[in-house]
Amino acid sequence: MSQNQEQSLDKEEAFKSTDKNPSHILPEKLTLDSRLQFECHPGVSCFTACCHNIKIILTPYDILILRKRLGIPAHEFLSLYTQPTYLEKTDMPGVQIKLTDDKKACPFVTPDGCTVYSDRPSACRYYPVGMADFHEGGSNDAAEEKFFFIVKEPHCKGFEEPKVWTIGEWRADQGVDVRDEMNKEWLRLVMRRKSFGYQASLSEAAKRMFFMASTDLDSFRRFVFESSFLDTYVVDEATLEKIREDDVELMLFSFKYLANTLFGAEGMEIKPEKIEAKVKEIKERQDKVLQEAEREYQELKAEYERRKKEREARDRQKTTNS
Ligand code: SF4
Ligand code: SF4
Repeated sequence: MSQNQEQSLDKEEAFKSTDKNPSHILPEKLTLDSRLQFECHPGVSCFTACCHNIKIILTPYDILILRKRLGIPAHEFLSLYTQPTYLEKTDMPGVQIKLTDDKKACPFVTPDGCTVYSDRPSACRYYPVGMADFHEGGSNDAAEEKFFFIVKEPHCKGFEEPKVWTIGEWRADQGVDVRDEMNKEWLRLVMRRKSFGYQASLSEAAKRMFFMASTDLDSFRRFVFESSFLDTYVVDEATLEKIREDDVELMLFSFKYLANTLFGAEGMEIKPEKIEAKVKEIKERQDKVLQEAEREYQELKAEYERRKKEREARDRQKTTNS
């Protein structure tokens, strides 16, 4: 497996992976014109096999669409159908579908298939065609490199079906383009965190904010309109109008806000009178970190001195005894 393929596997895992067998990537870099022999339909002997024992990470758009389909608020959807997880190989909190206790099945699967098929999550649409988009983790200037790869698991009999189409045709059939667009900025946040690694600290408050904005747009809307948010940030009237009612607009706005607060990306403007307070807050935080480091240093130094004295006392004792 090449480095690119390993990276692409990581990316695929951000959406979907089986705990038992996360790989099965075919060693071929594909384009939209590459051919794929595959079909999934109720007639395949493995029908719904891939809806069991599976880890399906939900993107903010998945959650939005599914909870609308079910006609319930975000918090109810989260508590009934999801469980917390970390987005692959990062410390970013997210949610995955909660499988049933007995059969380890997706709660939306029946012997007749998926009960939320037209609103199924992104991961279910991509399978078995993964996509690696190296633009996601980098800056906007980075040259875009996108390719596709096949995940061919032994239990999946769809590859034995005669239907042949291009990757592009398959993706259009699965309706992934709109998902790509809706998930892009959010996935970019996860990939940024991944590429920064743990050296860059992310506070617990920042992680909580990421989780809230990513999973519960009702709460994020309250945060925007009912906290001091609008006293701090400049948000024009047209945007306010859109995000007040439109969930998709609010979700896209939340990505911009998260990119700004988590990674310092441009796109949010702080009110001039608040900048001074913000600078003061950052300075106080830095001072606190410095004070903490100084305290730890002093404690270490004291410990070193204490041990040194003990050693010297032991040496003196040995000299006296001999
Ligand atoms: S959402 Fe539908 S397609 Fe996806 S795992 Fe569940 S039942 Fe299967
Ligand atoms: S295992 Fe493959 S062929 Fe079988 S239901 Fe899942 S995607 Fe379709």
